[in-house]
Amino acid sequence: SKTGAGARTDTRAPNNLESFWMPYTANRSFKQAPRLYVGAKGMYYTTVDGRQVLDGTAGLWCVNAGHCNPRIVQAIQDQAAEMDYAPSFQMGHPKAFELASRVAQMLPGDLDHVFFASGGGSEAVDTALKIALAYQRQIGQGTRTRLIGRERGYHGTGFGGISVGGIVANRKAFGTLLTGVDHLRHTHDLGRNAYSRGLPQHGAELADDLERLVTLHDASTIAAVIVEPVAGSTGVLMPPQGYLQRLRQICDKHGILLIFDEVITGFGRLGTNFGADYFGVQPDMVTMAKGLTNAAVPAGAVGVRKHIYDAFMTGPEHMIELFHGYTYSAHPLAMAAGLATLDVYREEGLFQRVADLAPYWEQALHSLKGARHVIDIRNLGLIGAVELEPIAGKPTARAYDLFIKCFEKGVGIRTTGDIVALSPPFIIEKGEIDRIVETLRECLQTLD
Ligand code: PLP
Repeated sequence: SKTGAGARTDTRAPNNLESFWMPYTANRSFKQAPRLYVGAKGMYYTTVDGRQVLDGTAGLWCVNAGHCNPRIVQAIQDQAAEMDYAPSFQMGHPKAFELASRVAQMLPGDLDHVFFASGGGSEAVDTALKIALAYQRQIGQGTRTRLIGRERGYHGTGFGGISVGGIVANRKAFGTLLTGVDHLRHTHDLGRNAYSRGLPQHGAELADDLERLVTLHDASTIAAVIVEPVAGSTGVLMPPQGYLQRLRQICDKHGILLIFDEVITGFGRLGTNFGADYFGVQPDMVTMAKGLTNAAVPAGAVGVRKHIYDAFMTGPEHMIELFHGYTYSAHPLAMAAGLATLDVYREEGLFQRVADLAPYWEQALHSLKGARHVIDIRNLGLIGAVELEPIAGKPTARAYDLFIKCFEKGVGIRTTGDIVALSPPFIIEKGEIDRIVETLRECLQTLD
């Protein structure tokens, strides 16, 4: 019984921590020493015991404009009172069309149609992969059913996303549905590229791995390649100079669609609208989430090139063209949040601010070279990574300790493996950048 003798906690008692099975969390450790946020404003969270924590990661790479921006808050409050929900199946509401066209204007080249998912990046990714498969069939290339991802890629947690994703822990427990995919080699190469500032010099030739997969499987079986322009969740891996351009060329040569998963690089993280703009590479589809609504309401989206949308607009006009969608696709609260978010980005010049701060950010981070345990530092736009030497036989333990120590000193960082990943809101001040770096330096000194 939940309340009987021997029960660890009464799971129905108010404020017990047991019932919530937390995502991507060491549940037992957390519940013994919980870290709870109860408020947020600008660059700071407030903890349940009233401490301020500087947000070095914009939540999970998502609160680009800083927390509780008044304009976004107001837009959500107004929308909740005006119209809570409207379906997007055979019905619509104006803000969905408005946000789609504003996002389309921001997207590079002829990416001019936007499909909205509901929950976030995982749904956006699964949507893009499904569109890729359906598109190939639509243009008479129905044998193209294979999807190519990359080792150390993260594309969310749906079955599509984990299939193309390249993180073993996200794949090994989930059985046989993950077939029909293959993976490019990852591009992380500390031997040649450690302490690169911006893009690493070596490794463009790793894009040729796609030629290997074409030789192995034949191009006629491959629908699409999906990569993150900058891989975030697997430790912040920058693309080598020329790598993405080469990938684009090989995709073109073989009729393979190129999908950029821009869930973290979209909406200003590199100082441009999208990573595609930063790198000057035109993908066929772009997945988005996070910064789309400043994370105030969950939302995801896929931008597609005109010819992809047009390929579906055939057949009888009364027929549904794509059998895909979510109850909460284009949810009114998300659309209102998205419109206000884009206004804030533009009016506060936040993407330009990222570009302006990037050199300072780079300098500050690289000043950690030589600090205890540090084996690499990486940066691009307002993204940073500090890679630590793992403790022999205890991978992740050192970085986890650092995370706890920084949190105790009032600085929120994120770690993945033994890599510190930093991605602050774009409103960060130089003094706050210094504080993050100095806290890291101080805490690194005290680690085993
Ligand atoms: N794709 C990328 C590149 C991501 O970084 C993430 C999340 O970190 C996702 C997809 C999944 O997004 P969500 O957690 O919103 O489903």
